[in-house]
Amino acid sequence: MNSVLKFYRDPEMGSIEPRDFKVYNDRNLDRIEALERVPESMRFDMRVVASVLPFRINEYVIDELIDWDNIPDDPMFQLTFPQREMLSPEAYERMAALHRRGAERKEIAALAKELRDELNPHPAGQMELNRPSEDDGEVMNGLQHKYRETVLFFPSQGQTCHSYCTFCFRWAQFVGDKELRIASTDADLLHQYLRQHPAISDLLMTGGDPMVMKTRNLRGYLEALLEPGLEHVQTVRIGTKALSFWPYRFVTESDADDLLRLLEQLVEGGKHVALMAHYNHPNELRTPIAREAIRRVRDTGAEIRAQGPLLRHINDDAQAWADLWREQVRLGIIPYYMFVERDTGARRYFEVPLARAWEIYREAMQQVSGLARTARGPSMSADPGKVEIQGVTEIHGEKVFVLRFIQGRNPDWVQRPFFARYDENATWLNQLKPAFGEEKFFFEDEFEAMKAGHGV
Ligand SMILES: *Cc1c(COP(=O)(O)O)cnc(C)c1O
Repeated sequence: MNSVLKFYRDPEMGSIEPRDFKVYNDRNLDRIEALERVPESMRFDMRVVASVLPFRINEYVIDELIDWDNIPDDPMFQLTFPQREMLSPEAYERMAALHRRGAERKEIAALAKELRDELNPHPAGQMELNRPSEDDGEVMNGLQHKYRETVLFFPSQGQTCHSYCTFCFRWAQFVGDKELRIASTDADLLHQYLRQHPAISDLLMTGGDPMVMKTRNLRGYLEALLEPGLEHVQTVRIGTKALSFWPYRFVTESDADDLLRLLEQLVEGGKHVALMAHYNHPNELRTPIAREAIRRVRDTGAEIRAQGPLLRHINDDAQAWADLWREQVRLGIIPYYMFVERDTGARRYFEVPLARAWEIYREAMQQVSGLARTARGPSMSADPGKVEIQGVTEIHGEKVFVLRFIQGRNPDWVQRPFFARYDENATWLNQLKPAFGEEKFFFEDEFEAMKAGHGV
């Protein structure tokens, strides 16, 4: 079947013009025309914060996704532009003082490094990525094999994004610190690893954003999965925010058609192909180009599953999530995860208490049909696994969180309900205490032993 032609053009999409990829960062922030409309004090704050946290934005996001009549509240503005309160008042003041007196770059860089180190740059196991993936003597950087059936792979060419999210949990690798970078260069090593591990059914390619890569490079990683000996790799997932930040990648870029052909080839070769699309707000789904990109990807037979964190200032209300999930289902996207914002970077600005997160999740679920209730969450990607807040209830007079593992270091932990003392302010698993006066959660001893065994 040659179905390539169907990708070329949707007749109703005659109005879509190609666009050059034009990107701004902390060094040319002042050249963003739209910012002429915001007060100088706000631009100063942005420069201060952008010297600590990574900043990068492209013109499509500026022109089409941000509502400049709604600054600073606009969710897409909050999602991409640095805000003063993303740093602690002390950190902000120290960096602002350097900017006020026109300090040299070197001095700013030194303070930036110091301030970053205070922001937990390596949350839950991120540095394990730079260690051998397993303890069988194999050395493989840029690969994380945390759950039996799924392996995460970080290709070296996919180490940036079309824009940066202000709340990114992998932010540390974008600030130029080579130590913090996690990546692999070698497609052959990946394929070899997969061949040697028949229990792996899912390859999850992530980054950065693998869709930043040219199709020819993606092909180098993915085409070989169709070869004999790799039949056990049934699912190819690609984590991406390109459907939101740069949908032209799938529509008008010179190798867009070739990308779709690659996805289709994998599908026709019997793989389940899923773009794990990062979405945070329904506004990301509203432009004609965003919709056309979704349509074209789905035409290849690949699925799109949506995931993203719950964030104060961006999507901390049930209506936004209900709209997001409804719109996704309408466009053929499958809602997958609602995450809890991780304990790193600008979390002070974005975090939502777990109790509130669960209320938002529940209220949003109540508003949508069953087809949109496929999103699990709120879920914390923590060291021992993905832990979901199932709810808040009272047992024998004690108010508790009901929790469960969606994913666990030990598959046997998955789907066992367990309980934590209710705490209306807790924002992460490590702040929770076992309920009913217990000393430890059921998995803790085993997890400690595992960590000791692996030298983690
Ligand atoms: C979420 C995640 C996966 C995939 O888990 P699924 O439940 O299959 O989506 C794999 N590895 C890591 C480290 C993860 O955080």
